[in-house]
Amino acid sequence: MHEMQELETVISSIADGIVIYGSGGEILRMNEAARQMLGYSEFDVSMPISERVKRLRIETADGQPFDDEELPFVKALRGETASGTLMRLVHSRSEEKPRWVSVSSAPIHASNGEISGAVATFTDITDLHDLSAWQQDLVRAVSHDLRTPLTAIIGNAQLLLRMLQRTGAEERYISNVGAIVQGAGRMDRMITDLVESARLESGQLPVEKQLIDLSEFVQELLRANQKSLNVDRVRVETTTDGNRVCVDPHHLDRILTNLISNALKYSDPDTEVRVGTERRNGDLVISVADQGQGIPSQDMPHLFDRFYRVKGARKAEGLGLGLYITRMLVEAQGGRISVESEPGSGSTFFVTLPTSEGSSCS
Ligand code: ADP
Repeated sequence: MHEMQELETVISSIADGIVIYGSGGEILRMNEAARQMLGYSEFDVSMPISERVKRLRIETADGQPFDDEELPFVKALRGETASGTLMRLVHSRSEEKPRWVSVSSAPIHASNGEISGAVATFTDITDLHDLSAWQQDLVRAVSHDLRTPLTAIIGNAQLLLRMLQRTGAEERYISNVGAIVQGAGRMDRMITDLVESARLESGQLPVEKQLIDLSEFVQELLRANQKSLNVDRVRVETTTDGNRVCVDPHHLDRILTNLISNALKYSDPDTEVRVGTERRNGDLVISVADQGQGIPSQDMPHLFDRFYRVKGARKAEGLGLGLYITRMLVEAQGGRISVESEPGSGSTFFVTLPTSEGSSCS
């Protein structure tokens, strides 16, 4: 008896909703949190299932009615275990706003092994869902509404700069307008980083892999970036065969551009940056090595974290999202990224990608 009371207290004090169903799907017991989430009163509990479901519309994440057979407690009564099923609960008879819940359930077996009921837990994730919807609205606003005026600023400042240069205007005017062009360009890159990292986190960046030849890819990337990167400092040391890899070319472009531009940025202008490829245990390893300032050992474990920047580093001008985005993109290809660095003598970043040499890229 004492144990039953203890169990009762535990169930009622848990913040998640807990419902225990009988073998026919009738509710045997539920805690206060479940009652609130599902909108049932004491009276409702004994109500037939057909009447119960009328009071509550259960929808899938994309707003479709939930298939009765797929309801977690129904699956549990068939012997299946379900976890983290996402549902939207709309109360038909109250003004209450719909709730988002994550539901898990499992069958309860009697001593003879037969299924005697089911237990389901309901976690209210409405706040989390609202936050993620807010994040998506913010990304939309930042990527479009903030970008539009910024594009106008960049375009017009570039035009003004060219005009001043052509008409031989005073140096200080040229340098003032040059600063506007540079500052606006930096802001544009930061917006791109913010939007991309938010998209990556919400899984909105699809991966479309193709079989590509890395040597050709790197050469083409350097040709295309001649204006924005000092590609004369980059030496490519790729092997001629065994260089084919299955990756999303847009992602790989971003990965390598990030690593090469960092290598150029954090090393002296008279030093070389080497891009190499190597086959290692069936994987293809791309390395980007510089002879720059290096990275202090205490910063190494956090380098690929979101918004992480090395304190006191020269030329730190981004948001600390570049390497974070790079890591997310590498992982999206099934690869991994690592770094070796010696403060004062340079850093080498390694991107390891699984290969599918000779096979088609599926
Ligand atoms: P950001 O987007 O601000 O450029 P990153 O995520 O690309 O930041 O890099 C994070 C930090 O790592 C930078 O602040 C910089 O100090 C350090 N870092 C990145 N690449 C190198 C490198 N090749 N050499 C030395 N430090 C580097």
